[in-house]
Amino acid sequence: MTALDVVTRPLELRLRHTFRIARGASDSRLNVLVEVAQAGRLGRGEAAPILRYGEDQASATAAVQAMAPRLGDARHFASAAREAAVAGQAAAEAAVDIALHDLAAQRCGVPLYEMLGLDPARVPATSFTIGIDSPEVVAEKVREASSYEVLKIKLGGPNDREMLAAVRDTTRQRLRVDANEGWTPETALERLEWLAGLGVEYVEQPLPAAMLAETRELRKRSPLPFYADESIHRAADIPKLAGAFDGINIKLMKCGGLAEALRMIAVARAHGMGVMLGCMIESSVAITAAAHISALVDHADLDGALLLAEDPFVGAVLKDGRVVPPDVPGLGVRPRS
Ligand code: MG
Repeated sequence: MTALDVVTRPLELRLRHTFRIARGASDSRLNVLVEVAQAGRLGRGEAAPILRYGEDQASATAAVQAMAPRLGDARHFASAAREAAVAGQAAAEAAVDIALHDLAAQRCGVPLYEMLGLDPARVPATSFTIGIDSPEVVAEKVREASSYEVLKIKLGGPNDREMLAAVRDTTRQRLRVDANEGWTPETALERLEWLAGLGVEYVEQPLPAAMLAETRELRKRSPLPFYADESIHRAADIPKLAGAFDGINIKLMKCGGLAEALRMIAVARAHGMGVMLGCMIESSVAITAAAHISALVDHADLDGALLLAEDPFVGAVLKDGRVVPPDVPGLGVRPRS
């Protein structure tokens, strides 16, 4: 095989609205675009570094550059990124993994989902996320999101009850809740019962990741299923979560990319767990990569590019509430010109 030519470019993504969750707020995200050129083809990937895990734009860029000379044969896309990865830099690993999958599917001349044997008709509806805000602003955002089947509401702030009441007064859309580790074992049960009464479908990460035993106890009495997010990174984390959570939320940026995401889906299914596919704030490069494997999951939460003021790429499109992967070879992403 010809040698790989790996290029990194800074990618600044501005948000349409300031985004608040239990841990903080942001107006823009600094991601990294990765381009891997080989034999006249260009594979694209994207890193959305996660500050909580010690990653930022500079560390992700450095990690991709360190990986480049170690990549070896691009045909081995199922293991190449993992074997070349820099410890603690999963977003960089994901970016390279995505670019290699893009190249592989381009070589095969088929969309990535087709190379993986997946049926795009099985892509589930995506939820649209509503961040923590005043009840008035939340009601306004919910009205703007009326075209989505499912809303994901971020709780864990001081005014959860007012926020959710504002949502329920505004819409009959299906609701999920993400507590982002914001609750305590003492208050969680009461909140779960209240949310069940409002028809919420499930709760993501009710307690801090460190409280696994407490989560297991809480689940025995919970009227709602739990999905793990902050508690999980990779497939090897799943066995210990069985019994504490009903399902897992997979994010390409946390697990290191598509190859590991596919392993996680298999391991979760072997434990009888549900699977949700989430994202960070990402352009259509990384979101499209996730869309290509989303036919395998129960719940999609792929709104990262929909929250942007301007998406620098075109790829998966929102169709009937679903983020549908393009029907062209590879990932099917290109710069918006
Ligand atoms: Mg979450």
